[in-house]
Amino acid sequence: MKKGLVFIVMFTVVFIFAGCSGNEEGAADAKQNGEKLQVVTTYSILYDIVQNVAGDLAEVHSLVPIGTDPHSYEPLPEDVQLTSDADIVFYNGFNLEAGNSWFHKMVETAGKSEEDETVFRITEGIDPQLLKSGGHKGEPDPHAWLDAKNGIVYAENARDALMKADPDNKEIYEQNAADYIKELEAMDNEIKQKVNKIPEEKRVLVTSEGAFKYFSAAYGFHAAYIWEINAENQGTPDQIKSVVDTIKEKEIPGLFIETSVDPRSMETVSNETGAPIVGKIFTDSLGEAGEEGDTYIKMMEWNVDMITKGLME
Ligand SMILES: [Zn+2]
Repeated sequence: MKKGLVFIVMFTVVFIFAGCSGNEEGAADAKQNGEKLQVVTTYSILYDIVQNVAGDLAEVHSLVPIGTDPHSYEPLPEDVQLTSDADIVFYNGFNLEAGNSWFHKMVETAGKSEEDETVFRITEGIDPQLLKSGGHKGEPDPHAWLDAKNGIVYAENARDALMKADPDNKEIYEQNAADYIKELEAMDNEIKQKVNKIPEEKRVLVTSEGAFKYFSAAYGFHAAYIWEINAENQGTPDQIKSVVDTIKEKEIPGLFIETSVDPRSMETVSNETGAPIVGKIFTDSLGEAGEEGDTYIKMMEWNVDMITKGLME
């Protein structure tokens, strides 16, 4: 870090003496001398997708820790520093990082803005599912990545942003993205084949947060939930009563909890309905490195296996 700073200072001095004030050129020269592109992503799933496209060419950081809810987050001073130093910042948008406006405030503190050319919303071009209740009613629901087809759009958007920031390595980003997108297409087909084995009337997914709108639309499920989006009221008596009624009425065989959400509300629902919790699935975070679901592809595969097993038994 210190070495890098000295390096940048030296370059700045050289540029001043050469009568050149272009910061952009300074940054480009630093890259040519072997410094990696500095990339910041807001949460772990986005981190993994961007890392797959960037390969060895970038140092990619994730701000919200694994297992933690990205809707509301308290950025650390080092998060602000990383964002300030980053060549590119990727965020989900669609109200994901909007819970306490943490991303908007942090980007501002870091001296940037969502309008900057170096700050990218990865959901660009995706047709949003809309929130039906609460303070963000009528606005996009964030959980687009739970449809693999949208994961492909994320990878394409990451590729385009990286190519723009680092045009010298354009071909490598294109190749990395093409390889990764092939894997995502295979994953999408695999999910479809697996869910096709679940009888249609059993395809009801009950989770704490209503994170499965995109997933349900893509793979033919009905989604029910206790609350619609994290960072609003979570698990109020009215919400619990409403989902309990739905579960009793539809004779739902199993309920799911999420790795990044407190399970206690769903445990209450399970106690009140007698419907068992049949699995823990990934929605807003990957699993810990080296454990189950530690990549986007692995978390999606884990989810579909858990859902298939939980609803078929
Ligand atoms: Zn969420």
